[in-house]
Amino acid sequence: MQKPTNTTGFTEISQTAPITTDSHGGRAKCLQRLIRLDMPVPKTLALSFDDVHAVAAGEPANTDMMIAAFGEAGLVSVRPSSQDPDWGGPGSILNIGMNADHHKALSAKLGEASANALYLRFIQSYAVHVARLDPDMFDLPDAPSNEALLEMLHAYEDETDAEFPQNPADQLTAVLRSMARAWEGTTARLLRQAKGAPADAGLGLIVQQMALGVGLGECGSGVIQFVDDLTGQPQIKGRYLSQSQGRDALMGAPSAIYLTHDARGPSLEDICPACFTELKKHGDVSRQRLREEMQIEFTITNNCLSILDAVRIPRRPRAAVRIAHDLANDGVISRGEALMRIEPRALSELLHPQIDPDGARDMFQQGIGASPGAASGRIVFSSSEAQACAARDEPCILVRRETTQGDVRGMHAATGVLTIKGGMTSHAAVIARGIGLPCVVGAMGMVLDSRAKTITGEDGRSFAEGDIITIDGTAGQALVGACAMLTPTLDGAFATLMEWAGEACDMGIRANADTPHDARIAREFQAEGIGLCRTEHMFFEVDRLTVMREMIFADSPEDRAEALEQLLPMQRADFAELFGIMQGLPVCIRLLDPPLHEFLPASREGQRKLAEALDLPLSDVTRRIDALREYNPMLGMRGVRLGITVPEIYDMQARAIFEATIMASTKDNPVVPEIMIPLVSATHEVELVKSRIDAVAAAVRIEQGADFDYRFGVMVETPRAALRAGDIAQTAAFLSFGTNDLTQMTYGLSRDDAGRFMSDYVQQGVFPEDPFHMLDTEGVGELLTIGAERGRSARKDVVLSICGEHGGNPESIAFCRSAGFDYVSCSPFRVPVARLAAAQLAVSDKIG
Ligand code: PEP
Ligand code: MG
Repeated sequence: MQKPTNTTGFTEISQTAPITTDSHGGRAKCLQRLIRLDMPVPKTLALSFDDVHAVAAGEPANTDMMIAAFGEAGLVSVRPSSQDPDWGGPGSILNIGMNADHHKALSAKLGEASANALYLRFIQSYAVHVARLDPDMFDLPDAPSNEALLEMLHAYEDETDAEFPQNPADQLTAVLRSMARAWEGTTARLLRQAKGAPADAGLGLIVQQMALGVGLGECGSGVIQFVDDLTGQPQIKGRYLSQSQGRDALMGAPSAIYLTHDARGPSLEDICPACFTELKKHGDVSRQRLREEMQIEFTITNNCLSILDAVRIPRRPRAAVRIAHDLANDGVISRGEALMRIEPRALSELLHPQIDPDGARDMFQQGIGASPGAASGRIVFSSSEAQACAARDEPCILVRRETTQGDVRGMHAATGVLTIKGGMTSHAAVIARGIGLPCVVGAMGMVLDSRAKTITGEDGRSFAEGDIITIDGTAGQALVGACAMLTPTLDGAFATLMEWAGEACDMGIRANADTPHDARIAREFQAEGIGLCRTEHMFFEVDRLTVMREMIFADSPEDRAEALEQLLPMQRADFAELFGIMQGLPVCIRLLDPPLHEFLPASREGQRKLAEALDLPLSDVTRRIDALREYNPMLGMRGVRLGITVPEIYDMQARAIFEATIMASTKDNPVVPEIMIPLVSATHEVELVKSRIDAVAAAVRIEQGADFDYRFGVMVETPRAALRAGDIAQTAAFLSFGTNDLTQMTYGLSRDDAGRFMSDYVQQGVFPEDPFHMLDTEGVGELLTIGAERGRSARKDVVLSICGEHGGNPESIAFCRSAGFDYVSCSPFRVPVARLAAAQLAVSDKIG
């Protein structure tokens, strides 16, 4: 805490007064800047954090001296000045000093109605905010009559057994004490701590002379800004209340008139052109010198302008991007500073539809926001229904207990997904983020009755198939009906800012993309390649699933080879298309990962259809499915274990990749694919798979008479692989850390079941955050650091990356950057967030 600035307990703000944001708060400092810019700011006194703290502790403020400092000038206002405006503070109190004498003098000058209105407003705010009386007793009357004034004064006296204070210094003392104590109260402290304020954050207070706008010329008050707070586009906005123009005689209230010339009525620009021009000049000066778009609060007294305050315009992310871009383009701030001014996470508001914050919101179920954005649609309970809706062009929300691979097509058809189970890296969450689909998972209190086709929220309200609901994948909520939406808008400012971010970035940002659609989005967002292509999704296309199942059911190596022979051209076409879209950018393909039973039908009906398709007895099908069933499939026959036990699958995939490589390569632009092996835990697994893939590469080279290169890498997603990264790196050109599985295995915590208790864990502080969402830098992070160090020391040029969901999380990116990773890979829609976060780290390192 700073020492009080002087013994009087306040400081008059002047060009040279010792005012700092750290001692007196942002508003006080800003007012000093306005004074230094020669703006006509009325006399203003500032109480430092220490002064205010002392007042809260019961020390009397030197209000006699303060009132004397204003002379006979009349009324004053008190406003809060916290270090960061986002931390809030008590509301401003105006017209302090209003009493019977002032009322009399103002009645003579302004008329009784106006004087009554001013006095009534002051009594109201004093009674409610200072004397803490019941607000219901101090409603403003319809007309500011003498009777109404007397009634309010009596109400005050009845409630307090005291006369309404008449001495301005006493009024000011009470106001200062009340505001100081409000700041130190528990609720206010918890609220600002939630916004990032330290527990002992101080409050400064500003006491400012009020310009009442009384006189023969134009008088009034208003606020003005020069850009739109939604879009950031240049536009004069605000309001002006004129005391002189068409005043409502009954209310004594000023009337609102236009700021700029308008055919519909009088405007400030017409009535007082000099003041208007001066305001524009001050707007321009503050933009240039304060290097911000400011909202300026002003009064006009007899055609004479006063600037009371200026605050940074509160803005939506779209406007923030535009404002930062324009300021940098005009040379007011540097490009680096423009990048630093945008909160990376806020970009997702630009990329996805959002529920209009001003619209109605009726929540029936809280869950986990797993993929940002919002969508409304009819409830459907199956993927086939979702596809039917899409065929009818009807938006729908796919509601499932949890999703599996078989739901991917339904998810593509739906406009949003809601699941009862699951956490941040459950199937639904990962797929939805990949395709930019709003998704809520872990809606644990919700009951799904699949026979009756209804869902019932925790609050007891039920919804049937076909009912319209909205999901908010940012806030993790399911809401009744169709909410009003804000549509996403990407303009040139966004694209330019992304380019600047790309230039500043010193680590790579790739996208996790499995389909041509994903790959196109990845390119649109300027991803530097594909860091993870999960090939299993390619086998769920209807035409492939049956062949895949034939392959799984094959009794002999010949039958299996035949099925794989059919899959080969399909995979080859998949990869060739991806290589084509990515145009020479790296594409990292992960060979098959999930356990084979995921490709088989779980329902009796599905199994019957499969028996029909394969021309097998149903009992054979069920027996085979039972044989593949595992107690812990996520820890069972999946990943590289499949590659070792059913090597023909990886052989086929490798061949498809190499043949596609030859197809997509040109002489000047050869494709160099990256092949990655999942769920490795032992070095020998890597060696075995690598030698088979090398053999396939050699065979393809000979058969096709063409040469090509490829890069072989390993996914580090088991703790053992991280610990043995030194050995593994001998055989792998790159190590890509799969932090989803690595988190699951480090904690021994199922990523599909974590949603069941994660919110309890986070609420009770057991975990600071959901580790599937925010990288656990202590435990999982230590494994990453060990893996990276051991990998690098064994092979200096090994490329290190992460491709788990954490790759799109700003805090996790900071960790990876400091651990020396070369790139992160995340869902295509998170690429801009990741790029901006990485650029900010590089810029702040440069600034030092
Ligand atoms: C991971 O485990 O981090 C990963 C990227 O793979 P998947 O999510 O497909 O298991
Ligand atoms: Mg994995």
